[in-house]
Amino acid sequence: MLLGIVFGIIASVFKVNQFVIDWIKPFGTIFINLLKLIAIPLIIASLIKGISDLQDISKLSRMGGRTVVIYLFTTLFSVSLGLLLVNIVKPGKSINEETRQNLLDGFANEASGKIALAEAQKESGPLQALVDLVPENIFGAMSSNGNMLQVIFFVILFGIGLILIEPKKAKPITDFIDGLNEVVLKMIDMIMLAAPYGVFALLAALIVESPNWDLFKALMWYSFTVLLGLAVLILIVYPTLAKMIGGFNYKQFFSGIGPAQLVAFSTSSSAATLPVTMERVQEHMGVDEEVSSFVLPIGATVNMDGTSLYQGVAAIFIAQTFGLELSLGAQLGIVLTATLASIGSAAVPSAGMIMLVIVLGSAGIPEAGLALIFAVDRPLDMVRTIANVTSDTTVSIIVAKSLGLLGEPHVRELDDYYHKDEGAS
Ligand code: ASP
Repeated sequence: MLLGIVFGIIASVFKVNQFVIDWIKPFGTIFINLLKLIAIPLIIASLIKGISDLQDISKLSRMGGRTVVIYLFTTLFSVSLGLLLVNIVKPGKSINEETRQNLLDGFANEASGKIALAEAQKESGPLQALVDLVPENIFGAMSSNGNMLQVIFFVILFGIGLILIEPKKAKPITDFIDGLNEVVLKMIDMIMLAAPYGVFALLAALIVESPNWDLFKALMWYSFTVLLGLAVLILIVYPTLAKMIGGFNYKQFFSGIGPAQLVAFSTSSSAATLPVTMERVQEHMGVDEEVSSFVLPIGATVNMDGTSLYQGVAAIFIAQTFGLELSLGAQLGIVLTATLASIGSAAVPSAGMIMLVIVLGSAGIPEAGLALIFAVDRPLDMVRTIANVTSDTTVSIIVAKSLGLLGEPHVRELDDYYHKDEGAS
């Protein structure tokens, strides 16, 4: 990020802007294309896998039902919180008309198409969104990132079919999907190796193309909005729920989950953090293993409050930057798509940003806007992963409590004491 900014400034001073646009910027574009490229395979593999893993849910229906409902509820709450904050702070409105015009010119083709599309959408009937959800041809749906909800619809139907057929017949498909999922995650790993160069190119191009600091100011406000929302979740919402339902005080809660939060921050991956989360929740927070071993792995893949909050804020921010007015209906649509997109996001670094393409595509916001927020994504990813992990933990406490499988607070305190003692000796 820093090198890109410095390079951009130097290039502007020496007036070699065109060189940067011709020879550096394309690498940024290639990188964004790679992210878009992997989105459809990622949804197909990770969502089918997510749904077919739910087989256990039917076995453990008592625990499963509550887990899914609470997970959905926390995710919906988070997107709504994000939308509320981004509508109050309005980070994308801070840029002036001239910068906006430059941006629009830069993305002219794509943006104008989308604006026309958004206009057309306004004129269609009230159930049009529902009709649009159901594709008439799956290959047609897969041919454009803007149709991702249709692909998700198909994938969910497919996943349910997979659960309902004889396990023996489903096995080759689930094995195949498992393998496919691994390959796609590996591909993302490989694409992410190019991330530093992509960030460098995009930032350098951003600077030489719009040499005023307006956009940076807007990006800072955007980051502030995301971080504010995440802070509300991590510091207020989850500890309060844990206190009200599980009887944890603030200190107990954070000393319990703190180490997992640190790992989440440094790896940006709920999946990589999972073993630590499990250990902390079982050994230090009194959640019975029966609950944690079921709730946490599912949570790591489907429950991403931080990601959904971020997707909501990012989508509206990009729309604001482009000067698109989104109606209340469109914003409610974002609540739905961001919830689905966060469920579909893999628990690995930057997955949330890739899935943002869906939210943008279905809200008629130019996907090219991804380039705007890409540069500041990594630090936000680190913090939203903390929110994701903390949410999973909180839900495991709630589910454990509701099933009578949560250790009493004094037992936990003794447990803390015991461990401290152990450390001292
Ligand atoms: N990195 C996040 C996680 O693993 C997902 C994302 O928002 O990119 O939880």
